[in-house]
Order: sequence, then C-alpha cells, then structure tokens
Amino acid sequence: MSAEFQEQIYRHTTASATRSWRERRGRYLLEGTRCKDCGAIHYPRRTVCSTCNSRNLEPFKHPTTGTIVMANICWQATGVHFGYGENIPRISTVIRLDDGATILAEVADTDIPKIVEGARVEMVLKKLHRESNSTWMYGYKFVVVD
Ligand SMILES: [Zn+2]
Repeated sequence: MSAEFQEQIYRHTTASATRSWRERRGRYLLEGTRCKDCGAIHYPRRTVCSTCNSRNLEPFKHPTTGTIVMANICWQATGVHFGYGENIPRISTVIRLDDGATILAEVADTDIPKIVEGARVEMVLKKLHRESNSTWMYGYKFVVVD
C-alpha cells in the first residue's frame, strides 16, 4: 500500500502483458472460435478444433446471457487480495451460455441467496484485478437477472 494507492496491490502470479493483449477480445466480448468444418464452438478461443482437429476456425461471439450450472462462494480469497479494498466474497460459477458453451466466471453485484443453480445471468464488464503496474485489468463477470 502507498499514499497514492489506498488499496493493497497483491498478485498471485506474474501476468503477461502479451497474453493479456491476445486474450482481450475473449475477456471483453466473450469471443471464442467456431470450426468452419464441423461447426463446433470453443471458449476460450482455440487454434485447432477439439472435435475434428481442423485449423479452419473463425472468430465467434458467444451470447452474453446464460444459466448458472454450479456456484462456489469463497470467503478466503476475498476482494482485498485482488486490490478491491473491501472484504467481499469471490463467487465462482460455472455458467452455460445460451449457445451451449460452458464457461467459468465470477458473479458480482448480486445478493447471495439469488445465486442458485438455474438462475439466469447476464454478462457485465467489471474490474478483475490490479496489474503489477497498478492499472486495472477489466473483463467479464456476470450478474443475476430477475
Ligand atoms: Zn471441427
């Protein structure tokens, strides 16, 4: 902590700026890939189809809505450890998007009793964590919609 940045800046791993740049479209837009040969969809993006091993893939934007399959509320690795400056739980979920793709994502800005299997969710762009140079990394999280 410093006088300039009131929140604790803490990193579990060393982030790669190159990797972060390469993965930005997936993180901001939920963009994966679709195989032009067999139609399989992937998230995160791939360079080789996991179904038919084709390299003939195209960018594919997944829908931003889906359903919670499973949720885990963790009070151990709280927001303080990721630079939020407050003790909020991290709610990790498995979400099945409306096109059938399954992703891991956090749920934010939602009352805990609403986070149940089968709840409808929508993607929002949120702060993920602090970079080592103190800038914020943004990416997708989900909120439960009524
Ligand atoms: Zn394929």
